[in-house]
Amino acid sequence: MEKIKMTTPLVEMDGDEMTRILWQMIKDELLLPFIDLKTEYYDLGLEHRNETNDQVTADSAEATKKYGVAVKCATITPNAARMTEYNLKEMWKSPNGTIRAILDGTVFRAPIKVKGIDPCVKNWEKPITIARHAYGDIYKNVEIKVPGAGKAELVYTAEDGTVTRETIHEFKTPGIIQGVHNTDASIGSFARACFNYALDTKQDLWFGAKDTISKKYDHNFKDIFQEIYDAEYKEHFEAAGIEYFYSLIDDIVARVMKAKGGFIWACKNYDGDVMSDMVSSAFGSLAMMTSVLVSPTGVYEYEAAHGTVQRHYYKHLKGEETSTNSVATIFAWTGALRKRGELDHIKELTEFADNLEKATLATIESGRMTKDLAQITTLENVTALSSENFIKEIRKTLETM
Ligand code: NAP
Ligand code: MG
Repeated sequence: MEKIKMTTPLVEMDGDEMTRILWQMIKDELLLPFIDLKTEYYDLGLEHRNETNDQVTADSAEATKKYGVAVKCATITPNAARMTEYNLKEMWKSPNGTIRAILDGTVFRAPIKVKGIDPCVKNWEKPITIARHAYGDIYKNVEIKVPGAGKAELVYTAEDGTVTRETIHEFKTPGIIQGVHNTDASIGSFARACFNYALDTKQDLWFGAKDTISKKYDHNFKDIFQEIYDAEYKEHFEAAGIEYFYSLIDDIVARVMKAKGGFIWACKNYDGDVMSDMVSSAFGSLAMMTSVLVSPTGVYEYEAAHGTVQRHYYKHLKGEETSTNSVATIFAWTGALRKRGELDHIKELTEFADNLEKATLATIESGRMTKDLAQITTLENVTALSSENFIKEIRKTLETM
C-alpha cells in the first residue's frame, strides 16, 4: 500500500512523561505505517524547554502561526517539586499559557462519545462543546489583602491624565480586594472564534454571563457578542439553520442540564475552567475529551485535555505495566491531520483521520479498552489492555478498514 503524501508540515509539539511515551507509540503504530508524515518537530519536553530557556515553546507557537496547524502532547507545568526533579534554571511558565498568549485564542473542548460509556446525565445524547475564553478576568488579576480600616478605590488614569474613580468599599475591618480586566479586542476575538466554530461544526451557540449583577463588565461581553453577531454572522447562522442565544449564566446552567447536547457553550475564562471539568467528568473521563485552540486568524492547535499522567509514568519507569488511555492523544493527531487535509485539499488524509477515529471507537465498542474505561463501561465481556496493547488493537481494527 502506498503511503499518504502530505504537502505542508504539521507543527509537532512533543511533551512529557506518560503522554510522551504514548506519543511515540501512536506515531510508530498508527501513523508512520500509513502516512508519509511531514512534521516540523519541536521538543517541548521539560528538559529541552529548560535547555533553551523556554525559547522552544515560543518558537513552536510562531511556527503554528506560519503553517496554521499544530498537534501538541501534554506537558509538565513546573512547580516547586519539578524544580528539583528536573534541576530547572527557572520555574518556566505553563506552555499552554505561553502558546495561548501568542495565538490569542479560544479553547474548544468536546467529549468523545462511544457506545458503552454513558454520561451520568441521562438526557445528554450528544456531546456538549465548551468554548473557553483563554484570556483575562481572574487569570490576570491583581489582589490586595486589606489589613484593616481604609478606603479601597478603583482608579483609571487615561493617557491624557483624566482620572475616573469609584469607591469599592470603605473598610472598617480587615478584608480583601481584587482587580480584574479584559479588553474589547480579546472579547471580540473570543466571540468570532465561537461564531466561526459554530458555523464550522453546524451547532447552536449558547453564551451565558452575569450581566444583571455585573452591569458593565459582564454586560460588555454580552454587548460585544451581540454586535458582532448582528453585523457579521446573523445571515450565515440563518442560512446554516443554527442559532445563537444569550442568557443569564444561571439560566444556561439549568438549560444545559435538561438539554440533549449537540451545541457549543461559550464560557468566560473561569466558567470554562470549571464547567469543562464538570462536563468531561459527567461524560465519563478526562481521557475521552478533545481540545483545540482556535485563533481569530484561523490557526489551530490540537491537544488532549488531560495532563502527562505522572503516576502512570512512574510505574512505567519501574518497568511495571501501565494502562493509560491514548484516545484523546490519538484524536489530537486526527484533528490536526484532518484540518491539514482540508486546508491542503488532500482527501486521503481527511479520510485517514476519519478512519483512525472510527477504528479507535470500534476497538472500544468491541470490548477492548484501557482500565479507566473498563471500570465504568456498561459493556460486558470486556478486556482491560495495557497502554501498548490497546494501541496495537486499534491498529488491527484500522487494518481491516
Ligand atoms: P493528569 O495527568 O491529567 O492525571 C490525573 C489522573 O487522571 C491520573 O493520575 C489518572 O488517574 C487520570 N488520567 C488522566 N489522563 C489519563 C489517561 N489518559 N488515561 C488514564 N487515566 C488518566 O493530571 P495531573 O496528574 O494533575 O498532572 C500531571 C502533569 O500534567 C502535571 O505536571 C501538570 O502540570 C500537567 N498537565 C498538563 C496539561 C497539558 O499539557 N494540557 C494539562 C493538565 C496537567 P489514576 O492515577 O487514578 O489512574
Ligand atoms: Mg480546570
